[in-house]
Order: sequence, then C-alpha cells, then structure tokens
Amino acid sequence: MAPVQKEELSERTPRVEDYLEVISGLIREKGYARPVDISQRLEVTPSTVTSMIQRLDKLGFLVYEKYRGIVLTPKGDELGKGIERRHRVVSRLLEILGLGGDIVYKDAEGIEHHVHPATVDGIEKLVEFFDRNPAIVRSLQRFIQAPED
Ligand code: CA
Repeated sequence: MAPVQKEELSERTPRVEDYLEVISGLIREKGYARPVDISQRLEVTPSTVTSMIQRLDKLGFLVYEKYRGIVLTPKGDELGKGIERRHRVVSRLLEILGLGGDIVYKDAEGIEHHVHPATVDGIEKLVEFFDRNPAIVRSLQRFIQAPED
C-alpha cells in the first residue's frame, strides 16, 4: 500500500471520511462501533484501525475510552452522517442511470469524497425528482438502453 504521509497534513482526508462514515453507520445499525467491525468493513488490520482511532480522537472527531468504546463528537457525527448521505445520494443516481452493484458501490466510494456540498444538494434534488416520477425513470432507462442510430 502507498504511504499516506501527505494525507496526514490535512485533517479531513478521504480516509478520515471513510472511517467516520463506517463508524457512523455501525452506530446507527448496532448502537456501537467496535474496532473489530471497523477493521472488517474497511478491510484493514486491527492495528491500522487502532492508530486511526487515536488520530481521529486527537483531531476531535471522536472520543475513545476503553470501556465506553467509540463516541463520535458532534463534529465527527456531522461529518460521518454527511458522507453517508453523499454515498446514498450518489449511489441512487448511478442506479437510476442503470448501473449495477459493483460499479455503483465503487464509484460512490470515490465520488463521495470529491463533490461540493452544493453539488450533493443538487444531485439529491434530482434523485428525489426521479423517485417521485417513476415513469420518467423508465423513459430515461429506455433511452439509455436504446441502440444508437
Ligand atoms: Ca466511503
């Protein structure tokens, strides 16, 4: 794996965002986020998770106490939920475009870190519009699938 030295200069990196996204998701689903679950979801070693948790604690995104576990601070909670929302909104747009599971997941994972909040708002509105107008979605999908002439 490539070193992440450059990333460490900035507090909000894709890696930081991914951790907060996963922690926020685990807390929502299970009520708590254990390092072992984080390491499984992100496919990284437990020691990588431990050092990242310490870094996120130092940066003020969470508080980690041995017995209470991981508690997100308001700043960490806001960022984590924001990334979850980006992921959801971008995934839905790609699904509407007719793209399949693996591409949707991978591209949402990439795009979620690189769009301006105003763009996310715009995409969210677009997705909402499509979801309220399924006939338009069907028409769009027929257009996408039609052979070019
Ligand atoms: Ca992610």
